[in-house]
Parts: sequence; structure tokens; C-alpha cells
Amino acid sequence: MTGKPGATAKTAGGEASSAANNKKAKRPAWDLKGRVEDMEKELRNRGSKNTALEDMINTNNDRIQSLESLNSQLKGTVAEKEEQTSEASATIRQLKLKLQESEDELATSTRRLQQKLEDMEHSHTTLQRKHTSLEGDFAASTQECAGLKATVAQMTSAQAGVQAQLSATQLNLQQALEAGKLKDEEIAQLKDAIARHEATIEEKEAKIRDDEGVRRKLHNTIQELKGNIRVFCRVRPLLGEECAHGEEIQHLNFPDDDGKVLEVDKMAECSLNESTINASRRGNSKHEFQFDRVFSPTSTQQDVFDEISQLVQSSLDGYNVCIFAYGQTGSGKTYTMEGPDEPDYETMGMIPRAVQQVFDTAQELTDKGWEYKMEASFVEIYNETIRDLLGSSSNKDVKHDIKMVDAKKTSEVTVTNLERPIVTSQSQVSNLLKKASHNRAVAATNCNERSSRSHSVFCLKLSGNNKLTGETCQGTLNLVDLAGSERLSSSGSTGECLKETKSINKSLSNLGNVIMALGNKESHIPYRNSKLTHMLQNSLGGNSKTLMFVNVSPTEDHLQESVCSLRFATKVNQCNIGTAQKKVK
Ligand code: ADP
Ligand code: MG
Repeated sequence: MTGKPGATAKTAGGEASSAANNKKAKRPAWDLKGRVEDMEKELRNRGSKNTALEDMINTNNDRIQSLESLNSQLKGTVAEKEEQTSEASATIRQLKLKLQESEDELATSTRRLQQKLEDMEHSHTTLQRKHTSLEGDFAASTQECAGLKATVAQMTSAQAGVQAQLSATQLNLQQALEAGKLKDEEIAQLKDAIARHEATIEEKEAKIRDDEGVRRKLHNTIQELKGNIRVFCRVRPLLGEECAHGEEIQHLNFPDDDGKVLEVDKMAECSLNESTINASRRGNSKHEFQFDRVFSPTSTQQDVFDEISQLVQSSLDGYNVCIFAYGQTGSGKTYTMEGPDEPDYETMGMIPRAVQQVFDTAQELTDKGWEYKMEASFVEIYNETIRDLLGSSSNKDVKHDIKMVDAKKTSEVTVTNLERPIVTSQSQVSNLLKKASHNRAVAATNCNERSSRSHSVFCLKLSGNNKLTGETCQGTLNLVDLAGSERLSSSGSTGECLKETKSINKSLSNLGNVIMALGNKESHIPYRNSKLTHMLQNSLGGNSKTLMFVNVSPTEDHLQESVCSLRFATKVNQCNIGTAQKKVK
């Protein structure tokens, strides 16, 4: 840019002067020389002007070049700046993001702090409340403390009184100690006396043991005097339907206070052979039956048991006892022997009561040196076949025979293959009874109800051993629920039922025959004529005791069967009287 403005101005000035020259002196056409000179002058002007213009162009080119380089320089700068700008905006975005995060964090912290502040405010109020209550407590304590102070003051004054009392007591104690010494001497004397008494007691206990032997003998004598065969009659109450119409028992009376007579009215209505009846008023329709005891419908199981408990005692004393329940089906045999289906303390039957007495007495006798072992068995005799009611139902096919064994030189009858659990508790016995009734139910046939068509024999074998005296005893208690005694006509029966009927009739009549043969002291007793008497051979006759319950239904419908039962029982009872009279002589 060296520019040549002066040249440009000079050129412009040169043109101006030539123009002035042209105006000043216009050469005449002839003056050629002048004119050539002018033209040459003009040419020269023009050349210098051209040079000036060329210079100007060069100068301008230079300037254009420098401007272009300046332009490209500026473009680079612009690109650089743009790059810087995009970097800056990326940074700005990042910073904005960070700013957002920081703001979020700040909000969270603010919330947390807010929460803490609230918690602290809450704690503050709680503490304030506590503070208030503690202040209250403090006030109360202060008050209490004041009260205690007053009490202490009172007690201090009381203590002085106690102190005085203490001295008095100490004095008394001194006196008591002296008295104690005297008592000690007395105690020593008493101990001497006790030792003497203990020796006496021992003597007496030995005497009691001897007396137990005497008691056993006397008890047995009494039982023999009462008769080794006894018959009790029990009339059950009217039940359910039977008394639904307000009916009362009118044909059966209990006239005497001793409870030994049963008076039967309307006897005339029964076709009976009167000669077999122990009738006191012949020609009248009233007849009296006499037994060792007659139990009216109001008698309880306990009343009945009171009368048989002496026989249970005999079994513990080493005698064999048989208790039978005889009577038609529904007359109360099973109720008497076992009790109702769901027995309670009041209604439980003779079997559980007898077992209870055996347990209780055996326990009492331990003081006198006796130890007892008790073995139970329970069988059913159906159609002259023995079945173990305590056996497991899987052993149905086991056969049971009656065999003689020689035990201690006395031949004893025993049934083979029987379960004979040792019993130690009443609950165990009730479980055995339940098992037995279950086993009987399982065997029920489609004939008559099996339990009323079979005999059941519960047997308790009692072995006693006296460790002090060396004595031993063996007793048996048999409780027999006989098959129903109702007379079944065998004419209508066939097959199984006929066999059943025959075997019941046979075994019941044979039982009567055996008892009567025993009462008559006959040389041959037909024990083997039926399974029942064969099995009970050892417990019938000899020194054994037999009791028969004749169970009677109170309804008039059953009068005929009742009279049959009473007649059977009367026959048995007559043997009894015979035996007793013999013993008295
Ligand atoms: P059996 O065994 O002679 O066939 P049950 O002992 O089964 O007769 O008695 C028949 C019904 O009479 C049973 O429902 C029984 O509970 C009831 N029963 C029997 N004797 C009495 C009694 N003394 N007191 C109350 N209910 C009795
Ligand atoms: Mg029965």
C-alpha cells in the first residue's frame, strides 16, 4: 500500500493544462509541425498517465492481496472462536446438570433436616411432658418425705416403748428357758414311755396278724352258717315305655321289713304246678317266695353289693366263690353284673365293685404282711363252645379245652389257651370289660342276640402270700352272667337256632342239677354234663361259696317267665337251707 496519490493528482493537473493549451492555441491546419508537436506532447502525457494508472493498479492489487490474507486470517479466527463457543456451551450444559444434582441433594438434605427438626421438636415436647410429670412426682415425693419424717418421729418414740417391752420379754425368755429344761426332762420320760408303747404295738400287731387268721376262720364260719349256697332275688324297676302310662308294679309286693320275701299276686293267672311253690297262702292267688335277700326295684347297685361284699372277702381269704345271674332276657342280669352301657360311680355293676373291693382290701392287708397277685380272665360259652373274650380277634380259631392239672396235689380244672392278664388297677379292668363286650358284639349272629344266648364268666384268680407269717392262699372269684332263661320252644327252631336253644336249656338245667346234687351231698355231681359246670367245677361245692341272683322283670307280660325263674331259684334255695342246717348241728 505504497499508494501514489501525488502522481494521480499530477496526472489530473497535466490533463487540465493540455486542455487549456488546446483552448489557448488552436493550431491552424497548416501548422503540421505544431500539430505533430502537440500530438507528441499528448502522447507523452498519455504514457505518463498510463504509468500512473498501472502503479495505481499494482498498489490496489497489493492491497487486495493483503486484504485477502487478512480475510483468510479472520476466517481461521472465526472457526477457532466457533469451536471455543461449542466447547463453552458443552461445559455450560455439564455445569447445569451438576447444578441440578446439587439442587436435588440440597432438597433431600433439607427434607432430612426438616424431619430431624420435627423429631427433635417431638422429643422436646415429650421431654417437657416428662419434666412436668417428674415435677409432679417430685412434689408428691417431697410431700411423702415429709410424711415419712413424721412417721420416723412417731416410730422413734414407739421404739422406746418396744425397747421396754423387749427387756420384759428377755426376762420372760429366761424363765421360759428354765421351764424348757424341765420340759426336756419330761420329753425324755415320754420317749421312754413311747418306746415301751412301740414294743406293745409290735406285740399287738403280731396279735392282729394272728387275729386276721382267726377272723378268716370266723368269717368263713359265718358264711357257712349263712349257707354256702345263697339265693338273692332282684326285681328291676319299670323302664321307659313300661312306665310311660303311669303304670305301677301291682303284682309283685315286698311285704316284710327284713327284705327276704317276694309276694306274687295274680298267680292264678299262671298255669303253675303249685306244689313247687313255697306258698304260704294256698287257695289264694297270692304266693310268697322266700330268699336270702329280696331286692326291690328301688334297691341300688350299692345296696346289692353290700350283701355280696362278704363273699368277695371270702375270695381274698382263699375261698372259691361263684356269683351267678339267672333270669330271662331283659330282667337285669347284665345290669347287675356289669352295670349299664355307660356306668358311673352309682350304677357300676358287681364286677367292677368286686374288683374295687379286692384292690382296696389287698392294699389294706399289706400292713399285715399280705401281698396279692390278681389274674383276670373272661370267657363266653356259646353252643357249648368256649371263646376267650380277652383274646385278640385275630386268634379266632384258637381252641379252648377244659383240662385237669395237678397243682399242689389238688387237681384243678383249667381252660387252655386263655389270655390271663395280671390286673393292677380298676381302669385296667374297665378296659378289659370294654374289650370283652366288643368281642361279644363282633361275634353276634343273625340268630338271637348273642350275649343273651350265651353265658359269660368273668374270673379273678387271687394268690396271696404273707411275707411275715409265710402263709399263702389261693382264691377265685367267678362272676357269671347266664344266658336268658326264657323257655324257647325248640319245635319252631331249626338249624343253628335249635342247637342254640338246646344247649342253653341243657346247661341251665344242668347248673340246677349240680347245685342240687351238691346240696344233697350226692356222691356223683354231674359237673361234666355241661361246659359251664365243668369249667367251674373247683368253684362249685366243697368249701366254695355260691350265690345266685334271680333277676326278675317287673312287667305283668313277663309274669309267667318270672314265676319260672322264681321256681328255679326256690329249688336252689332249698339246697342252701339244707346245707346251712347241717352245718349248724
Ligand atoms: P339281661 O342282661 O338280663 O338281658 P339287662 O341287664 O340287659 O338284662 O337289662 C335290661 C334293661 O334294663 C337294660 O336297659 C338295663 O339297663 C335295664 N336295667 C336292668 N336292671 C336295672 C336296674 N336295677 N335299674 C335300672 N335299669 C335296669
Ligand atoms: Mg344280658
